[in-house]
Amino acid sequence: MTKSYEVIDHTYDVVVVGAGGAGLRATLGLAEAGLKTACISKVFPTRSHTVAAQGGVSASLGNMGEDDWRWHMYDTVKGSDWLGDQDAIEYMVREAVPAILELEHYGMPFSRTEDGKIYQRPFGGMTTHFGEGIAQRTCAAADRTGHAMLHTLYQQSLRQHAEFYIEYFALDLIMEDGVCRGVMAWNLDDGTIHRFRAQMVIMATGGYGRIYFSCTGAHTQTGDGNAMVLRAGLPLQDMEFVQFHPTGIYGAGCLITEGARGEGGYLTNSEGERFMERYAPSAKDLASRDVVSRAMTMEIRDGRGVGAQKDHIHLHLEHLAPELLHQRLPGISESARIFAGVDVTKEPIPVLPTCHYNMGGIPALYSGEAVTLKDGNPDSVVPGLMAIGEAACVSVHGANRLGSNSLLDLVVFGRSAARRCAEILTPGEKQAPLQTGAGDEALDRFDRLRHADGEVPTSALREEMQRAMQDHAAVFRTGESLAEGAEKLKAAWAKRGDVKVSDRTLIWNSDLVETLELDNLMFQAKVTMESAGNRLESRGAHAREDYPDRDDVNWMKHTLVWCGENGEVRFGDRPVHLNTLTNEVQTFPPKARVY
Ligand SMILES: Cc1cc2nc3c(=O)[nH]c(=O)nc-3n(C[C@H](O)[C@H](O)[C@H](O)COP(=O)(O)OP(=O)(O)OC[C@H]3O[C@@H](n4cnc5c(N)ncnc54)[C@H](O)[C@@H]3O)c2cc1C
Repeated sequence: MTKSYEVIDHTYDVVVVGAGGAGLRATLGLAEAGLKTACISKVFPTRSHTVAAQGGVSASLGNMGEDDWRWHMYDTVKGSDWLGDQDAIEYMVREAVPAILELEHYGMPFSRTEDGKIYQRPFGGMTTHFGEGIAQRTCAAADRTGHAMLHTLYQQSLRQHAEFYIEYFALDLIMEDGVCRGVMAWNLDDGTIHRFRAQMVIMATGGYGRIYFSCTGAHTQTGDGNAMVLRAGLPLQDMEFVQFHPTGIYGAGCLITEGARGEGGYLTNSEGERFMERYAPSAKDLASRDVVSRAMTMEIRDGRGVGAQKDHIHLHLEHLAPELLHQRLPGISESARIFAGVDVTKEPIPVLPTCHYNMGGIPALYSGEAVTLKDGNPDSVVPGLMAIGEAACVSVHGANRLGSNSLLDLVVFGRSAARRCAEILTPGEKQAPLQTGAGDEALDRFDRLRHADGEVPTSALREEMQRAMQDHAAVFRTGESLAEGAEKLKAAWAKRGDVKVSDRTLIWNSDLVETLELDNLMFQAKVTMESAGNRLESRGAHAREDYPDRDDVNWMKHTLVWCGENGEVRFGDRPVHLNTLTNEVQTFPPKARVY
């Protein structure tokens, strides 16, 4: 197969796939360590989804009140509903302080306090004294923290002479006898195919929010790295845990902050009823995210959704004074105008619980090394492969991620992966030649999809999958509904072979890009739905109506899931690391869940 494509070979010490916060932080550290590093990205680095992060990045700097990494650790363990690995969490919250100060020294333009320190704001779930007080822990660069972070890291990486392969689409890993030897990629700009050989491949490909109809993430969040790992015969972890935000704009998915309801906004169903009064009589529209999301979904399922398809809810702001909207919610007013065509001073915004973050991903240790279950060892390192950022499951977020802990995860584990590479790799070390035909399988798949000439347009199949996920594996889950969803996905899966690509060229073929991405999404949808059906308890973001309680006896474990090309899904598990990293902090034994 390689014969029919022009293949250009490259050799690097390390190849990083992804140029979001995680990929760039790793790339920078690797280049600083003198390792010859290539960073591949399907979009221009500063257009990665990290750029959209607004709120901030957590670290117990204590600039605006007392703080302690132990409190940050406790909050994160509790937030994870005790599914997070406590050694990895300890590592993250302790390294947070030097990692953020480093970013400051790299030139990240943080907002400042009066006396010139990094400004820190309060965020949900971030407390002092183990839940007693409110912590000001989230470091912010106004409401553009991800933007500031990404630009800083990209500039510093260029300064260290890291090499970038921009608008290259990574297709698949090159595996030899369980060892990752490199990655295949397609240059979108000139149509050439590239084979990268490396001592280490680091997956930093981000989340897969686009399996859902409504998603706050970028259109590029298609879980490509996760799918590559599944196709390499390796497992993903905890894929049933998906965080939803109650108010994404219907259709577009863009986030409408909780602040909109904080300022007096409220939700109604098709009967004009303020239904939250029924579900949460005291907190009403300001009940916690999962409660509001679930109530909205129940209204829609009971036929009280609004719109032609009765599939969303109205968020009202038009009763608020126009000056207040202008002053306090200018960004939201603009988003509603652009993405929903709505003037918030006159009409309600159509909203829907929207996929916001994927807790699951490629199982990895806090060193960044990817692991699998092998010969009974749940922490068996996959040689040549690392995973960081939203693509990875370290697992520091467990069953639910706290706001501002993701940007932190990116920099801490991007940094630790680079450090681990510096420890175990020798710059310029001679690499064995790749086996004959290395990368052929990836090209077979590429060629098959390029010439796909079936009946089903990519966009139709994508919508079928997204609707099944939105209806059956969102915030409201029961065994029956998940089984129904699994059947719908099975039907969609069967159509993969019947997909239609009309553009056969190799240059800027967005039709083919979308089809490759859809194929990757289908794997993620499948394992998310099946893992949700498999876990018979409610924990964190995974809320089962038929198993409403957390079950620590049977389910205090990580789900491992494999999925082959034939769509067959297999499960395993890994124990949760309940030990801490050092003796400087107590372990946090599970407590009743507080919702
Ligand atoms: C609207 C929004 C607001 C948020 N706000 C916050 C916040 O305030 N605080 C916080 O902590 N978290 C926040 N989050 C979560 C956080 O921003 C993300 O989890 C994080 O940015 C993910 O970073 P990443 O580096 O893992 O991946 P991304 O930033 O998603 O980058 C993925 C990279 O992989 C590349 N890639 C993917 N597939 C391929 C392929 N096949 N070939 C080549 N390259 C590929 C892409 O080009 C891209 O460079 C927010 C998320 C959203 C969506």
